Amino acid sequence: MNQYIEETEKGLVHTYNRFPVVLDHGEGVYLYDTEGKKYLDFAAGIAVCGLGYGNQELNDTLKTQIDKLMHTSNLYYNTSCGQAAEALKRVSGMDRVFFTNSGTEANEGALKAVRKYAWKKGSGRYEFIAMENSFHGRSMGAVSVTGTESYRTPYEPLIQGVKFAKFNDLDSVKALVSDKTCAIILEPLQGEGGINIATPEFMKGIRKLCDKEGILMICDEIQCGMGRTGKMFAWQHYGTKPDIMTMAKAIGSGVPVGAFAMTEAVAEYSLEPGDHGTTYGGNPFACAAVAKTIEIFEKKNLVAHVHEVGEYLSQKLDELLKECDAVVQKKGIGLIQGIEITRPVGEVSAEALKEGLLVISAKGNVLRLVPPLVIEKKQIDEFVEKIKHILS
Ligand SMILES: *Cc1c(COP(=O)(O)O)cnc(C)c1O
Repeated sequence: MNQYIEETEKGLVHTYNRFPVVLDHGEGVYLYDTEGKKYLDFAAGIAVCGLGYGNQELNDTLKTQIDKLMHTSNLYYNTSCGQAAEALKRVSGMDRVFFTNSGTEANEGALKAVRKYAWKKGSGRYEFIAMENSFHGRSMGAVSVTGTESYRTPYEPLIQGVKFAKFNDLDSVKALVSDKTCAIILEPLQGEGGINIATPEFMKGIRKLCDKEGILMICDEIQCGMGRTGKMFAWQHYGTKPDIMTMAKAIGSGVPVGAFAMTEAVAEYSLEPGDHGTTYGGNPFACAAVAKTIEIFEKKNLVAHVHEVGEYLSQKLDELLKECDAVVQKKGIGLIQGIEITRPVGEVSAEALKEGLLVISAKGNVLRLVPPLVIEKKQIDEFVEKIKHILS
């Protein structure tokens, strides 16, 4: 066994099933293992590495920031936190941002912000409506609104007042609404849950329902946000601006950072000094990554690129669906697509690894296709060739 694998297996709590590969470095949309083998990356570190690997402009910014200042705590201002917040506000349409260290913490913060809002308004509301097959993270709060029972059951009792509706079934949401409902949380496109995209009727229906009943709408854009769907954030396809939005994964291009953002109307009645905090959150290093990532996105017009190559991928998957018996269904949009297949996804992704292709799975025996957003058509062709070979 490889020394790195052996060390890792001995050293860590066994919480992950890892592929038997040790990744060493990357370039563009390719990764290389310690033996020098090359892999076409359709995982992007789980939809994190939007800019791919070895983006010199980003790397130079990070190196400079390391030499200047890594951390200050939130007792002081720093030079990049405000810039990162401005950039996120600009692309998200939200008014106020709180920086966290992960997606889980972003959701955790959003849940607290909502409870505080209800408390300050004296509404007596505390219930959350979440979706079946959702994924919002693994902390106690985030897991409480995650719609996979096996993720929740061992840790019960979880936070009170969470109900699960069926994704894309507005009536099932309406049936759960009460005068105690404080928020509805959903991913406009469920990633881990199987690449399930919300219908316009569902998103618009939820927005309307929230407005009518005085409920806050939280969109978890952690995976489907930051350009992945061909819009900067997935809710922008529907025009259904949420009251609170959570982000992470691609916003820092691999530097661990997340954020939740809210409208001024929520902020006015929500978290105040002393209510919520984090030592690392908003540190100059992480924020330099966010500000630079967004700057590069805008300069390269990456969102338009995703739209274009996403359409191309979609066409190619349609062809694959016709040609290949093992492919049952094509799902998703932009560069967050999936194919439901007949063979076990674990087996196929293991075989793909041997063939120099990294793919991951999602619920429902789906191969999840989330390459770096900088991918070009010829690399999509390379993917199609490889996957065709594996599946036939
Ligand atoms: C990954 C993910 C999270 C959790 O983010 P972490 O950074 O792993 O804590 C939450 N919600 C969605 C939709 C995700 O894809």
